[in-house]
Amino acid sequence: MKEYDYLIVGSGLFGATFAYKAKQAGKKCLVIDKRQHKGGNVYCENIEGINVHKYGAHIFHTSNKEVWNFVNSIVEFNRYTNSPVANYKGKLYNLPFNMNTFYQMWGVITPHQAKEKIEGQKAAAVEAMKKAGITEPRNLEEQAISLIGTDIYEALIKGYTEKQWGRKCTELPAFIIKRLPVRFVYDNNYFNDKYQGIPVGGYNKLIDGLLDGIDVKTGVDFFENRSHWENIADKIVFTGKIDEFFDYRFGKLEYRTVRFEEEIHNCSNFQGNAVVNYTEKEVPYTRIIEHKHFEMFGTEVDNCQKTVISKEYSTEWKDGMEPYYPVNDEKNNTLYAKYKELADKEERVIFGGRLAEYKYYDMAPIIEKVLNLIF
Ligand code: FAD
Ligand code: UDP
Repeated sequence: MKEYDYLIVGSGLFGATFAYKAKQAGKKCLVIDKRQHKGGNVYCENIEGINVHKYGAHIFHTSNKEVWNFVNSIVEFNRYTNSPVANYKGKLYNLPFNMNTFYQMWGVITPHQAKEKIEGQKAAAVEAMKKAGITEPRNLEEQAISLIGTDIYEALIKGYTEKQWGRKCTELPAFIIKRLPVRFVYDNNYFNDKYQGIPVGGYNKLIDGLLDGIDVKTGVDFFENRSHWENIADKIVFTGKIDEFFDYRFGKLEYRTVRFEEEIHNCSNFQGNAVVNYTEKEVPYTRIIEHKHFEMFGTEVDNCQKTVISKEYSTEWKDGMEPYYPVNDEKNNTLYAKYKELADKEERVIFGGRLAEYKYYDMAPIIEKVLNLIF
């Protein structure tokens, strides 16, 4: 008989939600995390009374009512709606691409005028694809132009995407840009989902609620005393890097990472919005996040005298850096498949979350996945 039913490696959303559901089912869990804090990438640090998203801006969004009800049963969510603004050479454009963007770009007022403009710009690209005998866009550039035309591609997509991914748009897969909605209505909501918001009091409240009454040890790396941790529980839930679990025996999976430069300013309102993207390639960062706007609205913004901003610099990942975005190209997906085969043979270990499944997961699908497990 072991001391715990589950050892959970990683206190991010996957590990914390798993611990919560397992506890409900009467199981005893121990959660360990190599970082000095709980919460994984949704962790916030309170600076000057503002919850700063330490690992990048996190906006919860879902159309799944069960997931929404579940997170709201742990902590109340506010009415934050993500509406980023793009700054291109000092001029501002609303995102995602909608009638406001088309008005700002071309002065067009009706959906019909906007569609005509886009159709006109697409024509040359579509013609060139036809001539080359191609029916589907082969890369992000072709995909973007055939969705939205050349002006918006040049101003709002090309520079931003090449900074974010460190690769040319012609070398990136088309699917990346399909995440962004294109709308012929005046609607700046970045997401199409039914529910959206930020936990009132920040994400730490969500994590604390999930891990309430559960044994947690931070500052503990599973690999530093592997055999000890492997013997402490009947089963292991592993949410760290899958290639590391198997000693990198087939080679290392690649990631993109982000460097955050944080600044505290002695003003109540730095940019008037939580997210401002800098879409030209000459500006070295991709975007500036002003954290207070996630949780402060109206006069609350002015009543808080200071503000905290983060500039995001996207770079190639190297050992020792935080792995953020999996690079789901053919080479890495093939490598992951080999590790997955080994993982499937591990009867005592459940692999879950963005690092163990090498997948770009939003928060809601992570929770949905755990809610669907049987305990
Ligand atoms: P993580 O949060 O990474 O947790 C894994 C934990 O395991 C970490 O705490 C780590 O320290 C720990 N760990 C790893 N190895 C070991 C080890 N050997 N020993 C002990 N502990 C270990 N999603 C959205 O829905 N909306 C957003 O706006 C959004 N924005 C994002 C912005 C950025 C920059 C990034 C990178 C992601 C964003 N996401 C967003 C996705 C979101 O962060 C993930 O869905 C979620 O955090 C994944 O949770 P997880 O538990 O799988 O992983
Ligand atoms: N994108 C862009 N310009 C912008 C915002 C996004 O070209 O101002 C592109 C970029 O290629 C990005 C993709 O759209 O990778 C998806 O954007 P999203 O905001 O969903 O990216 P995330 O940071 O959440 O991965």
